[in-house]
Amino acid sequence: MNPRLTNLLNLPGVAVESYESFQDSVSFQLKVLAKGMCCPHCRNYTEELHQIRPIVVRDLPVSGKEVYLKLPRRQFYCRVCQRYVTERLQFIDWRRKYTQRYEENIYSQINHFNIDQVSQQQHLRVEQVKNIFNHIRQKRHKQHIELSKKRSYYDKFGKNKKKLSP
Ligand SMILES: [Zn+2]
Repeated sequence: MNPRLTNLLNLPGVAVESYESFQDSVSFQLKVLAKGMCCPHCRNYTEELHQIRPIVVRDLPVSGKEVYLKLPRRQFYCRVCQRYVTERLQFIDWRRKYTQRYEENIYSQINHFNIDQVSQQQHLRVEQVKNIFNHIRQKRHKQHIELSKKRSYYDKFGKNKKKLSP
């Protein structure tokens, strides 16, 4: 493992095992540090690994090079509910092919450039840029609804409104 690169990459729960540098891109092979996971259905902790599938996700560029992360998508077996459960990594949204920080970055670029410009700069297809934009917009919308639900709950029932942080 490479502690310096792991530090530099700054993503929780993973470590850099190796990297390959190409002319226009860098790819990092990552290892997930956790041995097991809690089953999302029954909260039972399991280390029974069922299968590993390699995935590649795009991350923020480094020194003008595109960055790709090679990761294992791990599936565990939960004996309690007798189900296969897939591990979720906290820096990638469910079934996305990009890190959250990359998607946030693309989203904010669309405020300054048009979709075609972002597509050309990032070497992404126009549909991919639109997909990222819609994903983040929906996510923000959901967060906004959650927050206003909380707000109205506190407005009704909260005794000390100052405790609520935005
Ligand atoms: Zn379970």
